[in-house]
Amino acid sequence: MQGWADYHTHSLLSDGATSYEQMVLGAIEKGLDEIGLSDHVCLKPVVWAMQEVDLPVMTRQILEIRERYSHLINIRYGIEMDYFEGKEAEIGRIIASLPLDYVIGSVHFIGDWNFDGDHSFYGKWSNDELYTIYFGLVQKAASSGLFDTVGHLDLIKKFGVFPESDLTSLYEETAAVIRQAGMVVELNTGGLDKPCAEFYPGPRWLEILRAYDIPVTLSSDAHHPAQIARHYQQAVHLLKKSGYHEVVRFHHRKRSLVKI
Ligand SMILES: [Zn+2]
Ligand SMILES: [Zn+2]
Repeated sequence: MQGWADYHTHSLLSDGATSYEQMVLGAIEKGLDEIGLSDHVCLKPVVWAMQEVDLPVMTRQILEIRERYSHLINIRYGIEMDYFEGKEAEIGRIIASLPLDYVIGSVHFIGDWNFDGDHSFYGKWSNDELYTIYFGLVQKAASSGLFDTVGHLDLIKKFGVFPESDLTSLYEETAAVIRQAGMVVELNTGGLDKPCAEFYPGPRWLEILRAYDIPVTLSSDAHHPAQIARHYQQAVHLLKKSGYHEVVRFHHRKRSLVKI
């Protein structure tokens, strides 16, 4: 794992199981040379995310741990920020108020429905319709220009919900918007442990992203130290097979490329 980074992790401050320090120690144990701490920030008052009032605590803790472990590992300050249509100004204000290295933009809500935790509305639409609604929101999140990275691009498949037809044209349209916005997409290995049993995004998607020349980060969505850099060998194999030979790292919201 020497030379690897993990750009999507959660601590106790949002819905992770442990402190930042335990996550950092877990990353050092895995041999990573960089870890991004990226707790949830959400405008809605949900239990799994940081609320705005608590953000100074997060900043203080991350700056402190970054200083304390700087001789052992690079620590990057990220957030996983929820996108809501019509709330762009408010989201932008929060992002601008924090000394961040990168921002993951994620869609976890369709309207008020938190679809990656609450099963109640699956079946309301056909899967194709659901995918069209979801990727419409992903496109709006990308076009907002607020975020650096698209979080778990095809999260809508989490519970094994796959489209009825071939949605290649929807994927290509979405990839074109992401490309136009100059964004990065994460290869998030966490999906492999969910009912969908695939990385986010899956292999077909990765081919499309490569064709659109969209760069990637590598991440685990770890909510526990044991999940840091999970399935990385398999992920790197898939990236290379898809034509990727570099991954992105961030510092002060500027990106650099590292060979894999
Ligand atoms: Zn997420
Ligand atoms: Zn996450």
